[in-house]
Amino acid sequence: MNVIETSELGKRYRRRWALRDCTLTIPGGHLVALVGPNGAGKTTLLTMAVGLTRPTAGALTVLGSEPPGSPEALDHIGFVAQDAPLYRNLPVRDMLHVARNLNRRWDQGRAEDRLKQLDIPLSQKVGELSGGQKAQLALTIALARRPALLVLDEPLAALDPVARADFLASVVAAAEDDGISVVLSSHVLAELERVASYLIVLTHGQVRVSGPVRELLSAHGAGLEEIALRHLRAGVPSSSRTEAGQ
Ligand code: ATP
Repeated sequence: MNVIETSELGKRYRRRWALRDCTLTIPGGHLVALVGPNGAGKTTLLTMAVGLTRPTAGALTVLGSEPPGSPEALDHIGFVAQDAPLYRNLPVRDMLHVARNLNRRWDQGRAEDRLKQLDIPLSQKVGELSGGQKAQLALTIALARRPALLVLDEPLAALDPVARADFLASVVAAAEDDGISVVLSSHVLAELERVASYLIVLTHGQVRVSGPVRELLSAHGAGLEEIALRHLRAGVPSSSRTEAGQ
């Protein structure tokens, strides 16, 4: 099943298009790197996919047929927004309690086990956690909902290299262990090279390239970072399909 399908999807804020003519098919089972510079439209695309932003134009389907933003669709999506909404003054235990009350599906055992493995004490105040621990807490809350699709908007930006590597390893483990599809937006290309199986490059609100990493690598004869950089520099929209014929 495709996890996200868009057809000529667009979002306009007043006169300016944040995303335009976006036609994409993202098959399930991938860890998708959504790459683009500041203001490219990454957050706009992801928030439309999770139903927080309404499209101005085009069509969007998430996880088959559920309308984006419907309770049924949201039940199967874990979303970690750029500024993960964590309450600084609450102990981690109470933060889990709040999240549990906000979600129809919730696996408390899984959340507590994960935090234990990560050595994040339930009694510690959220505001006293490191950036890496906060990111892991937000990921734990998203995973406790047992999603089919995990959407992560710029989860790496504020993390140091070790925390980034740990965070990505957690995402990969969750994807492999639970068969979750992941869409992760980032400016940080280097780390994604090792983990992404599908690449989408967005600039100026338009898709420059999209496709399975393996096919892009063989078609371009270059590494993922180089392929992404070429498209980021080119700035001229090509089709939203890969040059590998996807
Ligand atoms: P970043 O990497 O900086 O998070 P991004 O790729 O996620 O950037 P978006 O946040 O989707 O980009 O923004 C795309 C464009 O839409 C930008 O020009 C931004 O200023 C504009 N935009 C986003 N949200 C709004 C809003 N609520 N009102 C008006 N303009 C907006």
